Amino acid sequence: MSLQTPMQQTHSLKARQEALRYMPGGVNSPVRALKSVGGMPLFIRKAKGSTLTDVDGNRFTDFCLSWGVCILGHAHPDVNKAIREALARGTSYGIPSLPETELARLINFHFPAMEKVRMVSSGTEAVMSAIRLARGFTNRDLIVKFDGCYHGHADHLLVSAGSGVARLHAASSAGVPEAVTAATISLPFNDPDAVIRLFREKGDAIAALIVEPVPANMGVVLPRDGFLPLLRELTARHGALLVFDEVITGFRVALGGVQGETGIVPDLTTLGKIMGGGFPAAAFGGKAEIMDLLAPDGPVYQAGTLSGNPVAMSAGIATLNTLAHGDYYLRLQEKAAGFFTALAAVAAGKNMSLNHAGSMFTLFMTPKPPASFDDVKMTDTVRFANFFRHMFAQGYYLSPSPFEANFLSGAHSARRLSQFLRAVKDFAG
Ligand SMILES: *Cc1c(COP(=O)(O)O)cnc(C)c1O
Repeated sequence: MSLQTPMQQTHSLKARQEALRYMPGGVNSPVRALKSVGGMPLFIRKAKGSTLTDVDGNRFTDFCLSWGVCILGHAHPDVNKAIREALARGTSYGIPSLPETELARLINFHFPAMEKVRMVSSGTEAVMSAIRLARGFTNRDLIVKFDGCYHGHADHLLVSAGSGVARLHAASSAGVPEAVTAATISLPFNDPDAVIRLFREKGDAIAALIVEPVPANMGVVLPRDGFLPLLRELTARHGALLVFDEVITGFRVALGGVQGETGIVPDLTTLGKIMGGGFPAAAFGGKAEIMDLLAPDGPVYQAGTLSGNPVAMSAGIATLNTLAHGDYYLRLQEKAAGFFTALAAVAAGKNMSLNHAGSMFTLFMTPKPPASFDDVKMTDTVRFANFFRHMFAQGYYLSPSPFEANFLSGAHSARRLSQFLRAVKDFAG
């Protein structure tokens, strides 16, 4: 870092002062304040491919990709073309339109367990609605989740919720009534005994067990062999629903998500991020007999003014079609695999460890790859902040927290990835 010329940050600094005047923390989502890496100012002017350009003209290779959203890289020409064409037809109708059915069909093609799908506008909304539906279907109240798994910011899921809230208390946020979180139980991830015990004691009161099947919101953590099948078996035996929150892993770990990779069929699935092609779109879906309980056919209410927005749907359709076209996805997976092998070699013996799935990864500042939130919390956060700033100064933008995942896109070049490896090596020594 010391060898770099200081970066120009005049315009970003000014932009932050202005933003702070009108918006709490100067941001619209807390982790963007970059507090856990020292709070440096950063405002983006534009993005193309794997490159972000800030308002001072600094360029960064983006390994955050809007938290995994931009799997094709930024401003992909096919997606932009679809967006422009959709714009010309108007931006919102509040009446059904064809792109909604088309995207639902594509989702069902890649996620056959999502027999029926409802579109919403954010991952938070998808999960919140799926939980309401699970409670309506089972006539039970209890929700089970895992420590360090994040399922959006709805009250009843802000219990031990990873990443952005990892520094707050067990109830995870002020303003959440105890009465609301009282019906949520959070267990350690990868701990089969804890799950078995809970289901033995309370199984018949549990509406749903929700899990990030490969957690990414405490950094990437892999489920141990047998853990996900155990969740499937216990929920089925006790009449509770299994909800896979694949908002981040859907179309990322594999085209068909973790469920496609493992063959485990959840009752309900939530999607977001990639499926909106950079627009606010998300979805939940599952068995038809469950989904048909939603209004207007059933008693579980759920609605949204901008749900199924035609521009967002068109961006999502173009994204999924591009991803599934030819060998695009296979090439991305192969590029990622080669990169991870090299990165693991750089990290070996340097008090760093690598967890990865598909094209997402976390380089933890821990000697051993973490397998739970307790393991993750052993990370050296000061060293991570130094690492982030070292990489930033060399023109790499990583996800700005030690408890987050990083992502590759089809637009990352082999040359840039090997330069990245060299920069990591310089830091690791
Ligand atoms: C991002 C994310 C959410 C929340 O989605 P938003 O669109 O930010 O509301 C929920 N669950 C998981 C697993 C996520 O990664």
